[in-house]
Amino acid sequence: MNYNIAVLEGDGIGPEICAGAVCVLKKTGEKFGHRFNFTYHPIGGRAIDEYGIPLPEKTVKACLESDSVLLGAVGGYKWDDLPADKRPEKGLLELRKAMNLYSNIRPAKLWKNLADASPLKYELVKNGIEIIIVRELTGGIYFGERTRGNKNGDEYASDTEKYSVHEIERITKVACELAMKRAKKLVSVDKANVLETSRLWRRTVRAYCEKHYPEIELCDVLVDNMAMQMVKDPAQFDVVVTSNLFGDILSDEAAQITGSIGMLASSSLGETKRGLYEPIHGSAPDIAGQDVANPVATILAAAMMLRDSFNLNEEYSAIETAVQDVLDENYRTADIMSQGKIKVGCTKMAQMIADKI
Ligand code: NAD
Repeated sequence: MNYNIAVLEGDGIGPEICAGAVCVLKKTGEKFGHRFNFTYHPIGGRAIDEYGIPLPEKTVKACLESDSVLLGAVGGYKWDDLPADKRPEKGLLELRKAMNLYSNIRPAKLWKNLADASPLKYELVKNGIEIIIVRELTGGIYFGERTRGNKNGDEYASDTEKYSVHEIERITKVACELAMKRAKKLVSVDKANVLETSRLWRRTVRAYCEKHYPEIELCDVLVDNMAMQMVKDPAQFDVVVTSNLFGDILSDEAAQITGSIGMLASSSLGETKRGLYEPIHGSAPDIAGQDVANPVATILAAAMMLRDSFNLNEEYSAIETAVQDVLDENYRTADIMSQGKIKVGCTKMAQMIADKI
């Protein structure tokens, strides 16, 4: 089979980690008899430098014409002082919107052998962790009306959170389908004791679950409690559904519990099979260009693309097993390094994983 993949490397470590994922995909293609065609398109800071905007129209067109999209990361010091609507991150928000990707699935998995990379006590993580955060991606405060002004010399700013029943129901459906394939347990996170949008969220999630997925054990948790519970007893969670803002923050917390954000991938999907696959981390400008970044998150994002966009389950498993094999042989990038292990760079790590396929 032929698959056309749009690669948006972005900024910082983006080109390095995408090169690693492309190397692994090419090897997977050779091994399983597929042809992956890669085309490269600008986004983020690089696009601002070249085209004056973070998401050129031709990048959107290329993504919509591709079978799926692999993204590195966007952003960097150089563009930090630009106004919000001109920053690299705006390109990513616009792309998610243009592709109508309303669900973001972020598995936070603690890999075997990496328990020592977790900042939590061994006792809390020894049996492994896999928290799958399903985050609403195209609504909420990141897309609400915003203002800035000055009243009597006092500068102010505001952001608005807005959700509709339709938006909440469709993300709840994604989370319920996932929960049904797993332990049939779902946690919905909100701030219903304070926010009106959260009260609508809670009522809608509960009604939807009761009507369509009565087998699922649903539990509502306030976001502040959730943040505490995740460090107190992370193994109690399986599938978690939440809003754009809370999901953004909690998924980074979950990532940190697993040891390194360099190991975690995410997928964003809408109504079609065409998705956006990316690592959960940013462009890490502090280590860009040094060949020290961990490429595993992007490699696993590419693997998720094979499984969730192209239905290539065996190929997905082959990549996941290759990652585990390289970890079992004690190779580590700097972010997951510990005593007695062998430190390797980004290119070498990706090559070793490709060689295991
Ligand atoms: P970051 O994720 O880029 O980096 C946080 C820390 O983790 C840094 O110390 C970094 O070196 C390290 N790190 C991240 N990825 C790593 C990897 N693969 N291997 C090893 N170490 C890794 O977050 P930040 O520093 O807050 O943001 C940097 C830039 O990235 C900002 O401009 C931010 O807006 C942007 N950003 C982009 C995305 C995205 O493109 N999806 C997401 C988050 C942040």
